[in-house]
Amino acid sequence: MTPIALERAGAVKLAALPPLALYVHIPWCVRKCPYCDFNSHERTGALPEKEYLASLFHDIENHLPAVWGRRIVSIFIGGGTPSLFSPESIDALLSGVRARLQVEPHAEITLEANPGTVEAARFRGFRDAGVNRISIGVQSFDDRMLARLGRIHSAAEARKAVEAALASFDNVNLDLMYALPGQTAAMARADLEQAIACGAPHLSAYQLTIEPNTVFYSRPPELPEHDAAADMQLAAEQALGAAGYEHYETSAFARPGRRCRHNLNYWEFGDYLGIGAGAHGKISFPDRVTRHERAKQPREYMETGNSVEKTVPPAELPFAFMLNALRLVEGFEIRLFAERTGLPLTVIQNELNEGEKRELLIRDWKRIRPTERGQRFLNELLEEFLVYRRR
Ligand code: SF4
Repeated sequence: MTPIALERAGAVKLAALPPLALYVHIPWCVRKCPYCDFNSHERTGALPEKEYLASLFHDIENHLPAVWGRRIVSIFIGGGTPSLFSPESIDALLSGVRARLQVEPHAEITLEANPGTVEAARFRGFRDAGVNRISIGVQSFDDRMLARLGRIHSAAEARKAVEAALASFDNVNLDLMYALPGQTAAMARADLEQAIACGAPHLSAYQLTIEPNTVFYSRPPELPEHDAAADMQLAAEQALGAAGYEHYETSAFARPGRRCRHNLNYWEFGDYLGIGAGAHGKISFPDRVTRHERAKQPREYMETGNSVEKTVPPAELPFAFMLNALRLVEGFEIRLFAERTGLPLTVIQNELNEGEKRELLIRDWKRIRPTERGQRFLNELLEEFLVYRRR
């Protein structure tokens, strides 16, 4: 099939709609970190929790027709720092969501928390509100690194937060960062050892990258060289593997049975309704895939509920699918491509052949997955499909 054929109306045909998740964005933080390019805004005074909840409920109601009759398989309350909201507000949020959407009885419900904003009682409150998974932004257990990252918490506070989370939840993720300013391989290893010793069943290890529109972009710190950063990633994979964690996505490691269901849905190109300031979403229909993005500024979002919605051009769907699915170490089942994009796999036959020839991916009758080389050079592998998009 040529790209021209893909531009024709009706080129996309989804036999069934994918699972639907809900993402809720809480856009405030105590302080903006110098590396952060998320839609997060420094808190000034008390948070307008009630007003914001009302806006979130309007948001759901305005978009109900797009998801009518569909069940929510997971909820992720991210930010920003959602743990700045009181447990009472999170309780009201989840009750309001359940009143408006059908949430599956055993849905995974994650809340992001930052050390320095949580203590044991708050975690218990979140659990009682219905949250069943906590993701903690630890980043490092080294006070020097935390200071360089502009984090508001100390290593001791991070340890305390993890301990308190594990006392209330058996499903906990720790976010760690590596290749930090002035970090050596030994320091990165020490961070990882401490994270493993905490006993959290899920760890995410992200390389610090310098993004546009951040303080680090205008005043870049000195970072470890590319090869040193790659060695840190490799050492992390080995240490976590030896400690019984499965490496299942570029940055994600989980004990058996503890993979993040919400994120797996993104990586498998599932649907998600994104509500809240700056939230993104993806909703499929039988003949098209759409994306939406809400107004970024909390005030504008609360006052207008503005949102931009667009249909993803069919020619962009293969790249969008691969951008997610090839992050999975085990790749994806072949049938998933047609199920989620509504296009036959034959539209990317040449690109798959090329990826195989360059030993970046491998396929059998059932699955397509990145090779080890493909995982290391993921951008190179993805470029194959980007070329397709531009053809
Ligand atoms: S706490 Fe997280 S979301 Fe908030 S500014 Fe720092 S990195 Fe960004």
